[in-house]
Amino acid sequence: MSFSKVTGHDFQKEFLLKSIEKGRVANSYLFYGQEGIGKRLIALEFAKLLNCKRKNDRPKENPGGVCECSSCLKIDSSNHPDVTLVKCEDSSEIKVKQIREQIEDLIYLKPYEGKYKVSIVNDAEAMNTNAQNAFLKTLEEPPGEAVIILISSKPQHLLKTIISRCQRLEFFRLSDQVIENGIKQKGELSQDRYAIAVKLSQGSLAKAILLDEELISERKRIIEKISELKKDSAVELLEFVDSIASQKSSKEHDHLKIFFEILFMWLKDILYLKSDISDENLVHKDFYEISKKLSERWSAEQILELSSFLEEAWDSLFHRNVNKQYVLENLIIKFAQA
Ligand SMILES: [Zn+2]
Repeated sequence: MSFSKVTGHDFQKEFLLKSIEKGRVANSYLFYGQEGIGKRLIALEFAKLLNCKRKNDRPKENPGGVCECSSCLKIDSSNHPDVTLVKCEDSSEIKVKQIREQIEDLIYLKPYEGKYKVSIVNDAEAMNTNAQNAFLKTLEEPPGEAVIILISSKPQHLLKTIISRCQRLEFFRLSDQVIENGIKQKGELSQDRYAIAVKLSQGSLAKAILLDEELISERKRIIEKISELKKDSAVELLEFVDSIASQKSSKEHDHLKIFFEILFMWLKDILYLKSDISDENLVHKDFYEISKKLSERWSAEQILELSSFLEEAWDSLFHRNVNKQYVLENLIIKFAQA
């Protein structure tokens, strides 16, 4: 991988390249924008450029091209002593201990072999309050060779004092064309699935690549099932929850996220139909009939209530580690009662 091989984000790449060229590298950055569009990749590629051993003989016309110097290779294999990637480990939050051990204890040491000590915090919003407070101290007095990059899809969960100390760089969703090319390159979907996969991925290449035939068919099962749920059939409800909760593949976590996203987008479709906005914007176009029927049955308030219930459930599952079975049961019952 290299800087120029990361898909899209031309402005952001140019901005970072120029900041190196002009000697204006900031001490701390915040890369923000929706999940799965390449922020972490760009941060790692930026770390490579900052510490590259061939910095001065990179080709002028493509300074972000592939490099195989020892430094770039070490960063590629997560083995560089001056580059740290902090992320959620065994829990859904980043704890103060991690900030101390992986940033504070290291950042004040001189770089071992590179020019900069780069600390990347992935999903920075997952830092709990103590971690954010500890982190703020480092941000207040960063040593000269330190470059800290916070990556977040939910910067609103970061302390304002943290945000204000960072050079902020927003990343936007990738275009439908870029996503479609990515899906074609992977070549696992049949042609008639492209359009729906592009819609489902919502501008995220990471998500688009995860979408396989199985997940796309799963979408059909989920929507059909949920629209038929009856509140008096407890057995059926529980069976459905089990089928979602028990996905045993290693992709389980992502599958669960996609299950939620399918529902989010579907509720949005129903709301669109309710407001008589053109069907052009529908994600699940092939479920027009079902969605239309529900848009007539549900009031706008009911649809919004379901959306906020869905958001709460998402938060419980992915940020507060609440029991999966319990969250899903509550959610499905809510839908069945609507
Ligand atoms: Zn290099």
